[in-house]
Order: sequence, then structure tokens, then C-alpha cells
Amino acid sequence: MRKNIVAGNWKMNKTFQDAEELISTIAGELDEKDLSCKVIVCPPSVYLEMSSDYADESILSIAAQNVSSHNNGAYTGEISASMLGSMEIAYCIVGHSERRKFFNETDAELSEKVDQLLDYNIMPIFCVGEQLEEREKGIQFDIVRTQIEKGLFHLNNDEFLNIVVAYEPVWAIGTGVVASPEQAQEMHSFIRGLIAEKYGSETAEETTILYGGSCNPSNAATLFANKDVDGGLIGGASLKADDFVKIAMSF
Ligand code: PEP
Repeated sequence: MRKNIVAGNWKMNKTFQDAEELISTIAGELDEKDLSCKVIVCPPSVYLEMSSDYADESILSIAAQNVSSHNNGAYTGEISASMLGSMEIAYCIVGHSERRKFFNETDAELSEKVDQLLDYNIMPIFCVGEQLEEREKGIQFDIVRTQIEKGLFHLNNDEFLNIVVAYEPVWAIGTGVVASPEQAQEMHSFIRGLIAEKYGSETAEETTILYGGSCNPSNAATLFANKDVDGGLIGGASLKADDFVKIAMSF
């Protein structure tokens, strides 16, 4: 059965001291709770080691926010999947809309990042989602289909079983405008249908599909109650321990 997941993407926030306080508070609070989901924290890469130490003592897992599409070598400033693997990082976000937009990451490059991660047994959390203008034109399903086909559909079935998909409508990220439960369910069901067409319904039913975009403690439960919404990728609200823990308790 597929896993429910709540993952907190800290993006480029927090000093080392603030990050340590946040992760230790989250770990401490969650350890006292009876959870129905896996909880993942995605800190900035310089805090991965410190965060992993806290995670090892708790039920938390750790994800990187990005990975190089290259293997090791002369790529100054980059972090490879082999490095993440050697630190036992279990997950990595790929294709967040901020990376597609500010770092010009293409579908082809993202598919290489996915391959790098799978080579080192790291599960990609693969982000897809349309811009506001694309939704206004009614082409959101075409956009998401293309992102999934180009980024993921070169994988074989066994490889695909290690993918988590995150639907993050760009117009909802950091805006306070959340997708309605109906909009989220409609797109998640569409994504599951695409996966079923390509890999069969068993694989589609096993795939965790997260929603991301202005998810907070007040709207999480209604979003997660949808049949095809298996949890959330949380930005802003993951920077406050209480809010993040409440979201993780929303199943
Ligand atoms: C995100 O950036 O992945 C995200 C979902 O951000 P926010 O929750 O702040 O909208």
C-alpha cells in the first residue's frame, strides 16, 4: 500500500542554530505522536549532516532539495547523488518550480537527475505543476502530462516504484492561494491515470502523490482527505515546528 508523506521544504532559510532548533523541536514533538504518515524534512544541503543526526534518533527522514545531473567530477558547487547516498540521504526533491524557473532546469536535465538518484537508491520527490496563465488557458493537464512524460516515463516499472510525485501548482506556491480540494483531487487523479496508462494500475495505486502550495494546518486535513492526495510538500508552514507537526497530524 502506498505511503502517506508530509515533507517540509525549508528552501534557503534558517541559520545553522535556527535549523538545529527547528529540527530538534519537530523530532521531539513527533516522537510523542501516533502518526499515520512518514515525515520528511528537506533542509539546505549544508545542514544535511546535522539534520540526519537528529533524524537518526527519531522517526524523521531527511531529503536533499536538489542534486546534480552529473556524476562526480569538475562541477564546482554541485552535490552529487553519490555524495547524498554516502550520507544515507533517502529522498531528494527534483524539479521544484523554483529550480525550473530561477535555474532554468529543463525536463531533460531533470530526467538525468532522477536517474542519478535512482542509481544511488535515493527516492526522487518529483515536482510538477502549471503556471497560473496555463490554468487560465485550460492547459494545466497538458503541462503536467508533458512534465511527467519527459521527466519520468523513461523509467522501467521497478524504477518508477521508487518515485514520489508532488503536484505543486505554481500559482499556489508561497502565495497563500491554495488549490481547492476539488482542483487537487482532479489533478492527482489525472496523474494517477497517466501512471496507470503507462505502468498499469498496480503501480499507479502504489505511487504516492503529494500536494504542495500554501498548505497549512487549517487546510491540510481537507486536502489530504481526498482519495488521490497522499500528503503534502510543505514550504512556508514547515518553518514553524508547531504548524508542521499539526500538518503531519492531519491524516
Ligand atoms: C513549496 O515551495 O514546495 C511549497 C509548497 O511552498 P508553500 O507551502 O510555501 O506554498
